[in-house]
Amino acid sequence: MSVEKSVDNCIFCKIVRGEIPSKKIHEDADLLAFHDINPVTPVHFLIIPKVHIPSLAEADSSHAPILGKCLASAGKLAAEQGCAEGFRTIINTGRIGRQEVYHVHIHVLGGPETLPPMIVRRG
Ligand code: AMP
Ligand code: ZN
Repeated sequence: MSVEKSVDNCIFCKIVRGEIPSKKIHEDADLLAFHDINPVTPVHFLIIPKVHIPSLAEADSSHAPILGKCLASAGKLAAEQGCAEGFRTIINTGRIGRQEVYHVHIHVLGGPETLPPMIVRRG
């Protein structure tokens, strides 16, 4: 698990800077959306702010505009990727949330079939 919290070594900051490739689906001055390298559903892409925010746990009210913009872009991008009847958004946070990349990102998941239940109950 990567717990990289610095801009220099952050894999998603490197994608923003064009230092490593990604399959981009949208880019503007504030955000980037690209396909997840290890998709778990037929449609699986990530929306990230260009600014480095390690996780939702570190976000504060100063980040509200960019986080709102990321969230508000999900529907249009999902529709463009073929999610005509809905999709799921996930933001994993910290160890308990099984976050692997410490640059806040929104997973957008979907495809032709109804997704499995959100969480498999234990016991
Ligand atoms: P999370 O567990 O929420 O931090 O998810 C991190 C996600 O980033 C995983 O779904 C990875 O497959 C994805 N990922 C890691 N490296 C890359 C990359 N270079 N390009 C696209 N997606 C990536
Ligand atoms: Zn970063």
